[in-house]
Amino acid sequence: MKKIQLADFEMPKQWYNVLADLPTPLEPPLDPETNQPMNPEKLKALFPEALIEQEMSTERWIDIPPEVLDIYAVWRPTPLIRAVFLEEFLDTPAKIYYKYEGISPAGSHKPNTAVAQAYYNAKEGIKRLTTETGAGQWGSSLSFATQYFDIETIVYMVRVSYEQKPYRRILMETWGGKVIPSPSPYTEAGKRILEQDPDSPGSLGIAISEAVEEALKRDDTHYALGSVLNHVLLHQTVIGLEALKQFEKIEQYPDVVIASSGGGSNFGGLALPFIKDKLDGSKPDTKFIAVEPASCPSLTQGKYDYDFGDTIGLTPLMKMYTLGHDFVPPSIHAGGLRYHGMSPIISKLYHDGFIDAVAVAQEEIFKAAVDFARTEGIVPAPESAHSIKTAIDEALKCRETGEEKVILFNLSGHGLLDLSAYDMYLHGKLAAT
Ligand SMILES: *Cc1c(COP(=O)(O)O)cnc(C)c1O
Repeated sequence: MKKIQLADFEMPKQWYNVLADLPTPLEPPLDPETNQPMNPEKLKALFPEALIEQEMSTERWIDIPPEVLDIYAVWRPTPLIRAVFLEEFLDTPAKIYYKYEGISPAGSHKPNTAVAQAYYNAKEGIKRLTTETGAGQWGSSLSFATQYFDIETIVYMVRVSYEQKPYRRILMETWGGKVIPSPSPYTEAGKRILEQDPDSPGSLGIAISEAVEEALKRDDTHYALGSVLNHVLLHQTVIGLEALKQFEKIEQYPDVVIASSGGGSNFGGLALPFIKDKLDGSKPDTKFIAVEPASCPSLTQGKYDYDFGDTIGLTPLMKMYTLGHDFVPPSIHAGGLRYHGMSPIISKLYHDGFIDAVAVAQEEIFKAAVDFARTEGIVPAPESAHSIKTAIDEALKCRETGEEKVILFNLSGHGLLDLSAYDMYLHGKLAAT
């Protein structure tokens, strides 16, 4: 079967919360002013109470509100597709499957949490949301989601992407978002960075500082984060829960689960429902691989320590793999993977040996992306190409050993708004990062 579909009524009605099943609890976020565990009251300036509760909840299953399910139904359930043409091309006995999140209106997995966050903020009467965006995937997802709830969205967009990727800015504006290149002269954080480096390409960490600063300053404004936090990974588990059902239908189960990892949400979203089976011992041998860019290798090269989520140091301190909150990654085309840290949940699972990580170079991921486009047809987002590269490597290992492994990866988004990066690759103009 080429494509395993679920009917609308088979969409999961609950998200899966891995905090219920971790062998040891996560280290709590710390208040940077006191170095003591963060008082949840203080987070109310940024987030609605429902999301703060989800952030700390240890309930295994959390109901997806009907209003959110209705919007998910615009594009969910997403298909699980077998990459038969890629398998033939690689001449591998492996079975390669991908969960295709690129069919959402914004073109990636990010609306899964954007819709939920917009819903909970609207329910608390919030009228404005600030956020950051790298390549524009998160900013466009939040702009899309907030339309349903009459919330105005202000997006601080990493300057290098703002300049390289005008189409995502236009997409955000089409959905009513207001887009500001970051670092900007409108916040104290932005001004500080611009004083040091007027040509700063920006980074997710800097843009987060700006968005958080604005939200702290205004009572009618909250802040929304597109990855990293526990509640974001929670919302994204709808991906893996669907995939589990789809594998049940064909009576298979993946041996290897792969996803790219920027802040960890598409990896967590796909992998956590399968990791549940590893944690409870029912599927002890599944291998999980988080894939990051060689130029921003937080898991494979970072330190496991408390660090800020942003550059300036406005957020709580989180225990995570980090390259340091002042690390500004090179301007690679996978803008969504340019983050100095990693989700505390994914960091802990990596530290405790439940998952593996690899780092791959930009040149290699575009080769994999083009091989994929020329076999399967879909042009992947550069971020998703990290998963493809690693899935191909795993499939080629199977060619060596003759093993018929089932490989699952997350095709987290399409690359139709990243064609300028393809242009550079195809014409030999990619920087060697
Ligand atoms: C943002 C993004 C990523 C990386 O972010 P995570 O939080 O690690 O999932 C991966 N793929 C696409 C298409 C993205 O837009």
